[in-house]
Amino acid sequence: MSNFIDSHINGQHFTGGGSEGCDVHNPATGEVLGTTRFAQPAEVNQCVEIAKHASSIWANTSPIKRARTLFRFNGLLYQHQSELAEIIAQEHGKTLDDAKGEVTRGIEVVEFACGIPQLLKGEYSENVGTQVDTHSIRQPLGVVAGITPFNFPAMVPMWMFPMALACGNSFILKPSEKVPTASLMLAQLIKKAGCPDGVFNVLQGNKDTVNQLLEHRDIDAISFVGSTPVARHIYAQGTSHSKRVQALGGAKNHMVIMPDADLDAAVNGLIGAAYGSAGERCMAISVAVAVGERTADELTARLLPAINALKIGGAMESGVEMGPLISQQHRQKVLSYIETGVQEGASLLVDGRQYQATGENSHGFFLGASLFDHVTAEMRIYQEEIFGPVLCIVRADDYEHALSMVNMHPFGNGTAIFTQSGAIARDFSTRVTAGMVGVNVPIPVPVAYHSFGGWKSSLFGDHHIYGSEGVRFYTRAKAVTSRWNLDSSSDFVMPTLE
Ligand code: NAD
Repeated sequence: MSNFIDSHINGQHFTGGGSEGCDVHNPATGEVLGTTRFAQPAEVNQCVEIAKHASSIWANTSPIKRARTLFRFNGLLYQHQSELAEIIAQEHGKTLDDAKGEVTRGIEVVEFACGIPQLLKGEYSENVGTQVDTHSIRQPLGVVAGITPFNFPAMVPMWMFPMALACGNSFILKPSEKVPTASLMLAQLIKKAGCPDGVFNVLQGNKDTVNQLLEHRDIDAISFVGSTPVARHIYAQGTSHSKRVQALGGAKNHMVIMPDADLDAAVNGLIGAAYGSAGERCMAISVAVAVGERTADELTARLLPAINALKIGGAMESGVEMGPLISQQHRQKVLSYIETGVQEGASLLVDGRQYQATGENSHGFFLGASLFDHVTAEMRIYQEEIFGPVLCIVRADDYEHALSMVNMHPFGNGTAIFTQSGAIARDFSTRVTAGMVGVNVPIPVPVAYHSFGGWKSSLFGDHHIYGSEGVRFYTRAKAVTSRWNLDSSSDFVMPTLE
């Protein structure tokens, strides 16, 4: 009998659903774990109606009570962290430690959101005119929909809903249909924490579900994380339906390695950042820009043994550093990029196609790590996001050449520089056109009390996600000017307060 994975609406497991859905695989073995059953249009409408009703009550719940709910949720997340990580590892294929790390980064946002009474404090100006005062406040938007990608089944939803809920909104999560189960566990835990029914809902679905949410008049804002073509579509459609939208897209993150860099640190950083989670991270490093021929030669010489020593396998196997790709279809796409790179004339120093999984993994979606050298800016493998375990080395003449490569690239999510020069690091941080910069840090994902977001084709909208930007995105500002010494005269000129 099939294991159906359904929606969670109004605090309940929702078995409605129609016949439409898709299979969820264990990417390590190829085994079908269950079927995501998509919510039907009538159920989407019902869910929005419930969330709308719940939002009016939740918005009037004091911030400290909302914070207490999140505080209890936080405790439950710690209690169930391993279970959640196992679900993620099984459906996504990333290693168990990596999945635990993902949950930890999500928990950090919940911890930040617990400070919402302080974060929502407004401003007050006394006597802006004679006995006239002004205060400004931030109020919730109403119903927020979150649409999330496959690569972080718990962390990316937790970039969104703890902040949205803390600010007094209700939330509808539409997770990736490829990894639907973690979101249901999050829904159960937040219900157990005392969150009122209808405030947090999960709608399982595909692009049709998303398009319905984008057009629904009772959805006030959309947080999206996924690929750039979809992010562009979400931003255009959502804003044309008068919604506030933040849409985070894809990436091609460059790491610049200067001749004075600590090469061991750079190689260690690159191996994890390029091949961890099989390269399926929006902050993965997919381009290493080596400054000078000597740096490039030394870098490749040290990368080769490190790549060949990578332990590939299923998420639960001990010592594994890299798991499979998410699906057979995505594996084919990455394979075709490797083929393209060869045709374009790049040197394939390590060919991940040679890797053969054995035993129960022989039907999994595995691909070994690949390394291309002598990649140039015109090549498709340089221009496009591959989202797999493929690292491209580009050789730059000098620092200015390296910086211009990063800045001319259409994506601008994260970037890093490895150097021992403070002056170069400072110049790079100032002039580079990317939203998140690492100095001797390969994956500079900001902590929860800063905000996450890219530039250029990596983000559509005005707000980064979580941190103080999250508070601004999930609330709207209002300024109230009050006078209590009323007189009865009329004034026909533009009021000035003196
Ligand atoms: P995706 O864009 O295919 O899917 C993301 C979500 O959008 C899913 O919930 C999916 O159901 C929905 N969707 C897919 N096609 C749609 C369409 N045509 N119309 C409406 N909705 C649609 O992304 P993915 O493959 O799940 O995730 C990988 C991508 O996400 C990569 O490009 C990666 O760089 C990006 N990503 C970005 C960040 C970031 O912070 N910038 C973080 C994680 C992942």
